[in-house]
Amino acid sequence: MIIIMLGAPGTGKGTVSSLLEEKTGYKQVSTGDIFRQNIKEQTELGKIADSYISKGNLVPDDITIGIVENRLEEDDVKKGVILDGFPRTVKQAEALDTYLQEKGRKIDMVLNLTTPEDEIIERIVNRRVCSNQQCKAVYNVVMNPPKQKGICDKCGGNLTQREDDKEETVKTRINNYIEQTSPLVEYYEKKGVLRTEVVSKKINHLGKQVADEIERDIKNK
Ligand code: AMP
Repeated sequence: MIIIMLGAPGTGKGTVSSLLEEKTGYKQVSTGDIFRQNIKEQTELGKIADSYISKGNLVPDDITIGIVENRLEEDDVKKGVILDGFPRTVKQAEALDTYLQEKGRKIDMVLNLTTPEDEIIERIVNRRVCSNQQCKAVYNVVMNPPKQKGICDKCGGNLTQREDDKEETVKTRINNYIEQTSPLVEYYEKKGVLRTEVVSKKINHLGKQVADEIERDIKNK
């Protein structure tokens, strides 16, 4: 099973992916997490990635594609994988198609999350994440605050704001999404694998509900 998470920053890709991982056992693979881990460990990849991510720009395709292809060779993703944040360009999507074709695998579902822009900004600037890489729980200081300020409910780790979640960088990230990633909606629609879900507090439909619905549909297939 291969599921791709598509959607602008702040639509809840990470939240839905990790809920789906818990429910299905399919492995969440987040390119953003891989880059952040490398930045923290100050690897060569981390230094290169940071020079793009800190400005809100995408890491170049050739680097990103190589990382995902290597990751997909590992045993823990053979049963199923949820690609969280990849592909983000048409070039990445084409490279993934070629890779999967060679391996005799196929994309089962592309879950496209959409959220009104005012909610996106609000969600991102209020987002705090657990700095414990084994946990990575996500909070919102307004909508979903931790019990104790700055401390993760699940593991007691420190909550931090992502560098690229500052308002100035968020605008660039959204523009990059519109220019470089949004063409993938049509790309996958043509392939007949696209499923679009609105994530919005205005209609009381958030990541949890989406994950529940997807789990139910996968089970009934
Ligand atoms: P995310 O955690 O998915 O929001 O990703 C954080 C940042 O990592 C993005 O804003 C990009 O700078 C970079 N990134 C993550 N995935 C990709 C990708 N597929 N292609 C290029 N850059 C990426």
